[in-house]
Amino acid sequence: MTELKAKVAIVTGGSRGLGRAIALRLAADGVDVAVCARNGEAAAETAALVEQSGVRSLSRSVDVTDAEQVGAFVKQVSETLGGPDILINNAGITRDNLLMRMKEEDWDTVLETNLKGAFTCAKAVARPMMKARFGRIIGISSVVGIVGNAGQANYAASKAGLIGFSKSLARELASRSITVNIVAPGFVPDTGMTGDLPEAAVESMMSNVPLGRSGTPEEVADAVAFLASDRSAYITGQVLAVDGGMTM
Ligand code: NAP
Repeated sequence: MTELKAKVAIVTGGSRGLGRAIALRLAADGVDVAVCARNGEAAAETAALVEQSGVRSLSRSVDVTDAEQVGAFVKQVSETLGGPDILINNAGITRDNLLMRMKEEDWDTVLETNLKGAFTCAKAVARPMMKARFGRIIGISSVVGIVGNAGQANYAASKAGLIGFSKSLARELASRSITVNIVAPGFVPDTGMTGDLPEAAVESMMSNVPLGRSGTPEEVADAVAFLASDRSAYITGQVLAVDGGMTM
């Protein structure tokens, strides 16, 4: 994977779960990785792990819904590490409920974080990427954004929106050799997002997975690392489901 060397990546929501696995995978490939999350201390823990791969890292407390914080972070990354060449729009939250019980605030917070956050981050990195005539923007959507899920209308809308947003960006930025793709994970247990799911919900989900098991953060990170590499140069505007066949 030497082709990733000397690149600089930003992983949003890199403090734990899939974001941390993605940051560590990119670092193992020789990428300098900047991570952010609202909890700056947890993001710093990831940065310390990233540095164990012998690459540079930095971390900062950033709320991706705040354009000013995002802009300052991207500037800091650019001045300290260079680039950024790669953006992983991974930060995400859930506020699950059935439509009739879903509060407007739960709709707004999920859309603000999962969709507007991706817009804010992509806008902040687009200029340096266009100047460099190179870039990789990868959004972490979900199978729920493809097939929907009862009780997750806000989350599904945000993840489906991320797909439309990324395909549009892919068309806008292609002439500058910037590719924009989506990874749509299926069920990956034991992250902050899935840790509290009742056993019955997990069993029901597993019955729809042809490969008969849940995924791992590392399997998602492998797909992201491929799309971040030079080996994916002719792939843009695509949705790669890492879901054991759930949405085939
Ligand atoms: P997680 O463990 O809860 O991690 C979420 C990350 O996002 C944390 O680092 C969190 O840190 C950060 N974050 C949340 N709101 C933020 C904000 N406003 N600004 C900056 N950072 C923010 O969840 P995960 O399971 O790893 O999920 C990661 C991504 O994968 C999400 O987009 C999720 O939708 C997607 N996904 C997960 C699964 C799964 O099964 N696990 C499946 C499909 C898709 P702070 O709270 O400190 O901000």
